[in-house]
Amino acid sequence: PTDLNALADEYLHLSYHGMRAKDKTFSVRLIKELDPALEKVEVVPQEMGRVLLNLFNNAFYAVQQRKRHASPGYEPEVQVHTRQLEGLVEVRVRDNGTGIIGKLRNKIFQPFFTTKPSGEGTGLGLSLSYEIITNGHGGKLQVETKQDEYAEFIITLPVRDLVI
Ligand code: ADP
Ligand code: MG
Repeated sequence: PTDLNALADEYLHLSYHGMRAKDKTFSVRLIKELDPALEKVEVVPQEMGRVLLNLFNNAFYAVQQRKRHASPGYEPEVQVHTRQLEGLVEVRVRDNGTGIIGKLRNKIFQPFFTTKPSGEGTGLGLSLSYEIITNGHGGKLQVETKQDEYAEFIITLPVRDLVI
């Protein structure tokens, strides 16, 4: 059983430090709201880590992109929220970056779909994440977004009773 609060926290910082290593001048507000009542879930931690790392890397990339074009008052933010629901745990990764335009929303989960220049993206992160969450763990991966405002990726995973 894995504590997704701890895993989310760990990968948020891992991703943040990766980004800072590439661009020392970059600053972003990190917001964490982790539900202390979150139940542990049966997941493969390395796989869930890959999903979280990809979502956070995408989020940092999106705010960095937006900062290039946004007005001076723009404050980049990356958030992670966890919430205990009835029989489910929810993890939300949210950024106030570029967002995703409507016609691309169906494409982002396809393998090799990327809007990043070569060398910066393979387009495999979200398709792999989708696979890990759905077929791998029986959960859901959804997105809510508005162009030039935000993107939020929502993972829900079932909490299974341990059968002994
Ligand atoms: P990659 O990061 O290598 O491009 P992904 O599968 O992780 O591949 O993402 C696919 C595409 O989805 C990205 O190129 C980008 O266009 C879009 N995308 C993913 N996450 C975000 C986000 N947080 N904000 C805006 N666009 C995003
Ligand atoms: Mg990615």
